[in-house]
Amino acid sequence: MSPPVPAAARDRLRIAIQKSGRLADAARALLASCGLSWRESRDRLFCYGESLPVDLLLVRDDDIPGLIADGVCDLGVVGRNVLLEQDRERRAAQRAPAFREWRALGFGACRLALAVPDTWTWQDARQLEGKRIATSYPALLSEWLAAQGLAADVVQLSGSVEIAPRLGQADAICDLVSSGATLAANQLKPVLTLLESEAVLAGPTGSFDDPRAELAELLLRRLDGALRIRNSKLLLFQASREAVPGLLPLLPDAEAPTVTRIDGSDGLALQALCHGAVTWQRLEELKRAGARGLLVLPVEGMLA
Ligand code: ATP
Ligand code: ZN
Repeated sequence: MSPPVPAAARDRLRIAIQKSGRLADAARALLASCGLSWRESRDRLFCYGESLPVDLLLVRDDDIPGLIADGVCDLGVVGRNVLLEQDRERRAAQRAPAFREWRALGFGACRLALAVPDTWTWQDARQLEGKRIATSYPALLSEWLAAQGLAADVVQLSGSVEIAPRLGQADAICDLVSSGATLAANQLKPVLTLLESEAVLAGPTGSFDDPRAELAELLLRRLDGALRIRNSKLLLFQASREAVPGLLPLLPDAEAPTVTRIDGSDGLALQALCHGAVTWQRLEELKRAGARGLLVLPVEGMLA
């Protein structure tokens, strides 16, 4: 069923995200952290943008690259695995590229891995020669097999790939793995990684040549700020002048700190934006190295 949406309006940006599933909540939260808000429509397939002319289309993740290719939506949040699979599919059918990754978004991490039964003694990829490999990613798997010079049968399945070896449908599988628990529960073990994946912002191969260009640029700037500060903290503390050189290397992935003199004392006040993890252990190390009055503050926004 195709979603009931108005015809593409060129002065509004339309972003497709997963309606429900692993990427749905994080995609929406990330866009909301860029200052976007929407009026919900009753069927919740289309959300009208209120704070900015940026609308959401809620769809199945597999539909997102095609919607971009057809110009039904302008951008989308989708797993790199889905985007690349559909890109390779187009390539195999000798169709021109129609979408690409614009930004990696830092959530939905997983990998596309080859897994074999626990009972195999794994040495190298040549063991796959002539075997049947079940997967939902036939284009990526075929590309990898060709690059390795291997001939194997690719058995395309749309789901439950991990039970294929037990059902006798395949000898090995190529599937998405995050913790590996599903593989283990099916007496399989991952042996090779074909692709490291995460959620990405996907868009057309070119750029927009109407008011959407400016909107997309604004969104990307905000997105870059939001991604950069995702795990960042502002660290405030005081120290003596002599202690400062020993303290700076302890700041986790920090930008150059602001240093101010404290009136009426020879102490300094420091303020550092840290992009690395500010752990208790790190705070204790800083204290031992002479930092006093340590304060860790959350960062809500950043515009470079
Ligand atoms: P839809 O109903 O939208 O088609 P789906 O069932 O195909 O949903 P999900 O299972 O929600 O999709 O997965 C969406 C994406 O989440 C995957 O394409 C992948 O990029 C990412 N992901 C992260 N970890 C995993 C995992 N362990 N297994 C599968 N996908 C994962
Ligand atoms: Zn899907």
